[in-house]
Amino acid sequence: MLKNVFIKTFGCQMNERDSEIMGQILSSHGYVECNDMESADLVILNTCTIRAKAEQKVMSLLGALRKIKTQRPGMKICVAGCVAQQEGDHLIQRMPHVDLVLGTQNIYDLGTYIARTTETGRPVIATGMSKAFQIPAFLPTDREAIGSTGDLHPFRRFVTIMQGCDNYCSYCVVPYTRGREISRSAQDIVAEVRKFVDQGVKEITLLGQNVNSYGRKPNGTARPCSFPELLHQVAEIRGLHRLRFTTSHPKDLSNELIGCFRDIAILCPQFHLPVQSGSDAVLKRMNRHYTVADYLERVEALFACRPDLALTTDIIVGFPGETDEDFALTMDLLERVRFHGSFSFKYSDRPGVRSCNFDGKISEQVKSERLAIFQRRQDEISLERNGAYVGSRQEIMIESTGDSGFQGRTGTNHIVHVDQHTDLGPGDPLEVEIYHAGQHSLKGRFHPKH
Ligand code: SAM
Ligand code: SF4
Repeated sequence: MLKNVFIKTFGCQMNERDSEIMGQILSSHGYVECNDMESADLVILNTCTIRAKAEQKVMSLLGALRKIKTQRPGMKICVAGCVAQQEGDHLIQRMPHVDLVLGTQNIYDLGTYIARTTETGRPVIATGMSKAFQIPAFLPTDREAIGSTGDLHPFRRFVTIMQGCDNYCSYCVVPYTRGREISRSAQDIVAEVRKFVDQGVKEITLLGQNVNSYGRKPNGTARPCSFPELLHQVAEIRGLHRLRFTTSHPKDLSNELIGCFRDIAILCPQFHLPVQSGSDAVLKRMNRHYTVADYLERVEALFACRPDLALTTDIIVGFPGETDEDFALTMDLLERVRFHGSFSFKYSDRPGVRSCNFDGKISEQVKSERLAIFQRRQDEISLERNGAYVGSRQEIMIESTGDSGFQGRTGTNHIVHVDQHTDLGPGDPLEVEIYHAGQHSLKGRFHPKH
């Protein structure tokens, strides 16, 4: 008899793809995905520990699951991903109702470990990491293999091209929770994208912590290729309409990669280039290996190549030792670049990272004030930037349709709402005229052909 699995994903797009892979692996072990945590036979929390808040959310959900499990002792609970990797057997000590702690390199053997929890009747901890780790050549792509309620996007998929990170930014847990950087072979990636496209997928986002260093440390014996070469290979796949990628590290952003925005027609004019701070002193302590001047030079080169690019970034405020002057420099950078959007965070101490031991910790109050100042100004700039699209014609790809209209997305990744009826459906392209701009989305109309 089929069993129900409920998968809850926290954190980044990589976790989203990992959850999809886990769902697909479980389908070959007799599970279907369900939307109801309380009635599930197996609950998987695929976790994130990038900031303390992300980890707290996991812990509070585990607290709620403890109560549910006392009513339904047969329920199995698996904690996967970065919290699992970071906590290991400590997690079982704190949360003895957890059956499986599954590290980031171990998710591909999920079926075996679940079976082991049943065989032994005891919690299983699978958090081993190896320098010789290799991402399996074939990751599941089978649409049918996903349970009846798996809510996959109708035409968009993520493809993991590399795992781990070797950059050791002083504030970041990723190198510890996801291990050393390793790149899948171009051949495996192209094969995976092709399978998705054969199933009707039209848009692919290639994922890595630092895609710019793709190929430096290849998986097994595969011949390495550079990230720009990989983009060219993927873009040649017939039937693929849109290609995106994330994330890039400014120190490794090559002219060759910038040139791809000119040369590859399906590469969307959207770029996420995390800067983190506008102060050279802070960037140095963050171990980022670039200066503000380097960053601005790269941004200029990007816009020179692709003037319609929508540029977004990540910012950390309140890094240890960040002075009012340092923060003012971050605000200065915001004024100079005028990012289309940004993800901004209060610095959060993470266990084991270097910045934990730095002097000059900033109070929560100051961090909150700086974050509010940054976000308020970013919102104004985003609105102004979005206003520049009013009156322009944009090709959107339709994402969803309803009785009162439909919603699509531009190549720049802006959501566009249209309150007209269309016979077109998800994945269909349509040219619309933008007539209104909000902070986070646009409104458009189209002229029906008679
Ligand atoms: N690899 C990407 C990069 O280099 O930017 C993304 C890494 S992380 C998943 C996403 C963002 O979280 C980072 O860019 C950074 O702004 C933020 N972040 C990472 N560690 C943090 C910490 N300890 N406190 C606050 N924000 C953090
Ligand atoms: Fe973390 Fe830096 Fe690696 Fe990004 S590049 S994952 S911020 S260590």
